[in-house]
Amino acid sequence: MKDPMLPLRRLARRFRLSPRTRAVVSVGVFGVLIFSVLQLALQFHVMPDANPQLDRHLTQETAAPDGQPQLADTDTRPVGTSFIVWQILIAFLTGTLSALFYERTRQREKLATRLRYERNFALFSNTLVLDRPDAIHHCLPYILDATQCSRVYIFQNYLDTDGRLAMRQTHEACAEGACSQLDNPALQHIVYAEDGFARWEYELARDHMINGVVATFPESERAVLEPQSILSILVIPIWVGKEWGGFVGYDETRQAKQWSADDLNLLRAASQSLGMYLDRKQTEAALKASEEEFRIAFEHANDGICIVDLAGNFSRVNQRMCDLLGYSQTEFTTMSVHDIAHPGDKDLSGHFIERSLAGTTTTGVFEKRYICKDGRTIWGRVSSALAHDQQGKPLHFISHLQDITPVKELVDALTTSESRYRLLADHAADAIWTMDEHQNYTFVSPAFKRLYGYTLKELGKGLPEKLIPAHSRQVIMGHVKKRLASIRAGIPDRSAYRIEVEMQAKDGRRIWVESITTPVFDEQDHYRGVVGVSRDITDRKRAEDALKAGEEKMRLLATLDDLTKLANRRYFLELVKRELDRSHRYSHPFSLIMFDVDHFKHINDTRGHDAGDGVLMALSATVTGTLRVADLCGRFGGEEFVAGLPETGLDEALEVAERLRVVVENTEIELDSGELLRVTVSLGVAELSDASPDLTALLKHADLAMYAAKRNGRNRIEPYTPGMALTEAF
Ligand code: GH3
Ligand code: MG
Ligand code: MG
Repeated sequence: MKDPMLPLRRLARRFRLSPRTRAVVSVGVFGVLIFSVLQLALQFHVMPDANPQLDRHLTQETAAPDGQPQLADTDTRPVGTSFIVWQILIAFLTGTLSALFYERTRQREKLATRLRYERNFALFSNTLVLDRPDAIHHCLPYILDATQCSRVYIFQNYLDTDGRLAMRQTHEACAEGACSQLDNPALQHIVYAEDGFARWEYELARDHMINGVVATFPESERAVLEPQSILSILVIPIWVGKEWGGFVGYDETRQAKQWSADDLNLLRAASQSLGMYLDRKQTEAALKASEEEFRIAFEHANDGICIVDLAGNFSRVNQRMCDLLGYSQTEFTTMSVHDIAHPGDKDLSGHFIERSLAGTTTTGVFEKRYICKDGRTIWGRVSSALAHDQQGKPLHFISHLQDITPVKELVDALTTSESRYRLLADHAADAIWTMDEHQNYTFVSPAFKRLYGYTLKELGKGLPEKLIPAHSRQVIMGHVKKRLASIRAGIPDRSAYRIEVEMQAKDGRRIWVESITTPVFDEQDHYRGVVGVSRDITDRKRAEDALKAGEEKMRLLATLDDLTKLANRRYFLELVKRELDRSHRYSHPFSLIMFDVDHFKHINDTRGHDAGDGVLMALSATVTGTLRVADLCGRFGGEEFVAGLPETGLDEALEVAERLRVVVENTEIELDSGELLRVTVSLGVAELSDASPDLTALLKHADLAMYAAKRNGRNRIEPYTPGMALTEAF
């Protein structure tokens, strides 16, 4: 049946009246209608004379003498009791019927609202479930129609570049006449905590709604909401999985809206559906990304990868697998793992499949041979794993095949060569050892053990202190550092080093060894340590040391005077000659002092020859301590000494001579008997000059001067002067 109020209802909707207003207006109209109908019925059918106004009017019209209708001055007829009763009855009837009508209208409105919600929510859910492209965009208008509000929209949360929790509007549906905010840039980056919505963050994150009249909201929120003409707002959080992902907002821009509890429950359900939808989308996106990752890894892997069903048949292989074995992808789909297995390794895969299906293992790594399409045999390292579905039912095997043929060949070659070299090492007399790049011994031959007494295990990590004393360690590390520096600099020193170091055997013996170390580099040219060959050279070292000691002694004998340790006559003359050459070359001065102990014979005679020796030794020490480092001093024979003074002229030489004289005179010499003795010396000085132009002349003239000093009383100095007579002593 057609709703008689439909035109009115449409009109009301057009003016966007609220259901309550619509009900009140409807009841008003209805009441007036009923009241009018009842009044008319009373007038014409139930009580035609009951209307005093009408009655009086008619009476006066008929009673006018001049035929002109006129009003009487006074109304003399009282209002009838029955009239009043009728009016009360009419009022009562109007009220009752209006109340009934109001109730019915309210129920109708409620029902219509409920139906509208349900219809729209069915369409809303359908859109999400069917997952048509941009489903959210398509489903929002349904909520808009259900709620009849001005704007419905979605804000999604995200972390901005500074890591702050922010929101941005992503979807929107607007009623006719409402202003869209989808392109409002201000709504694309709102940081909850900093842009005035900290309250929203606090409430929504706790799954509370924001609902109310904007005029009552805090200032910071009003600053954003009021420019959008929002009078009332409802905000319901969206939960994506266990995370608060944003919210759905419902704006009213025409008049503040009050939501019923039923409405709120339905809208919460809508938010949940949206959350579930977004969660599903996120999961799908993650799945898609991981599937894509798997596909890329599968297709571009360096290893062969295959998926094998539970019977061992290939269901999917990657390109690398095809390249390794020479079969095409299509050929593989008709083959099983047994078809490509080497006859000697056929059981390996079969056993693994059996054990996996029996549940005793789920993953396996083994090395096996495969026969390629062209008949070649390759070695592969296979890692297989049994994949299960969500219920734990076995699905298929995923296997990785790594071509290890080159490694296998190398190992074979190494095994052969290593056993050959080991044979050599075992029987070599020299100790053979290897050390890695961190100076850890990695191999020692039996001869090494015989030489030092240590096994490889006893040596431990690093350069063992018990084997290598500190001074030898320094030598070794010096070489290691040099080698490492060359490697770091990119110009690796590949030469063998020869070093001689002292080692300490387990039994405490010190052993000198000569080691030749050769660096080892791997295929990638990385330094991997050294191979060393060490030989015991202790005997040779001892012989060398003895020889060196003898040589030193001989050298000393040849140059120094045994008693005084001063240069002997021969060596002194040699040294002075060199100095004189220099002085001649550069015309530098040079002087010679010759001096002799006074009455030395007397000391020998009275205190003994040994005491005389002691005096000579003490005198030498005194003289050496008094002369400059550059000066030369020698024992010329007996108790006679010579000093050569480079860069020194006669005057200065006389000063040096005087200093010597005084020091000797003042030095007490303690004899072995405990006696303290003083001696004096007589000194003669000659200067390199035209008169004394060479060594012979200098020596001769210094000697003449010295004898002049003896003659002139001893304990004194005489410079050479031409004309000094030769004495029988020279
Ligand atoms: P003068 O003052 O004239 O030099 O008197 P003198 O006694 O020192 O001179 P003389 O040449 O008569 O004596 C030198 C003595 O020095 C003679 C010799 O026995 C002694 N003599 C020489 N060489 C050594 C030596 O190496 N050790 C000792 N104890 N005496 C030595
Ligand atoms: Mg003397
Ligand atoms: Mg003498």
